Amino acid sequence: MSVKDKVIVITGASSGIGEATAKKFAKEGAKVVLAARREERLQQIKGDIEKAGGEAATKLTDVTSYEDVQALANFAIETYGHIDVMFNNAGIMPLSFMDKIKVDEWDEMVDVNVKGVLYGIAAVLPHMQERNTGHIITTSSVAGHGVFPSGTVYCGTKFAARIFMEGLNKELTNSNVRTTTISPGVVATELMDTISDQDVRPRFEDPNLPSLSSEDIANAVYYAVSQPENVAVNEVIVRPTNQG
Ligand code: NDP
Repeated sequence: MSVKDKVIVITGASSGIGEATAKKFAKEGAKVVLAARREERLQQIKGDIEKAGGEAATKLTDVTSYEDVQALANFAIETYGHIDVMFNNAGIMPLSFMDKIKVDEWDEMVDVNVKGVLYGIAAVLPHMQERNTGHIITTSSVAGHGVFPSGTVYCGTKFAARIFMEGLNKELTNSNVRTTTISPGVVATELMDTISDQDVRPRFEDPNLPSLSSEDIANAVYYAVSQPENVAVNEVIVRPTNQG
């Protein structure tokens, strides 16, 4: 199914997976609403999309604020009339060992990766139920399938995000609203910059660590959205071939 003229809202659109997904969908003719906190980056990406002949709008959004996420959904509806796809993709990954007691980082991860996803669902679900069509997509992770040392809190947030989507899907059997969880393995993005624990960081700075590109994940999102309306791709796990 073509995504031409579909309206897709993307949180975490200022870099990495969100940016690549925005560019992929815009190239295929979708109208893209870019949301994140870094205005300059959003403007740059909007400019790139427009230069390539695509259509995009930006909205500064902090996903830890329900008000902001509601304002984002309202902005998308005012600008393009409706929302076809909500991509809850914003996330942070300040990995650390539990005994470092980085309570501020635990709080932040819960706020962005857990509450941010819930706010994204809340902001679009009534709209999509009313239209009896729509697609909610959330970026979880392979970290939402298994826990590893230093990832205890991060993995917990990604398990939560995946379970929200699974439960939501089970509650939506009487509607045409689709759900998809995207669970990437290692992807080369700026995400590792959020790691402040110096006992963890070197592992992710290893140039031999197998990784995918953001475009590989954008292709998975595109695959899910471009299926016929009666086909719901509920989860996609995409890892580098050599990642264990
Ligand atoms: P990036 O760091 O490149 O992107 C993260 C995005 O989230 C940025 O656009 C950032 O924008 C945004 N963001 C962070 N905090 C907030 C906030 N409070 N409000 C709004 N936006 C916010 O990393 P990725 O592209 O890798 O990450 C995207 C998603 O993919 C995340 O959910 C991550 O957990 C997940 N993931 C990534 C993997 C990887 O290996 N890279 C593997 C598995 C999952 P800004 O700072 O401008 O607000």
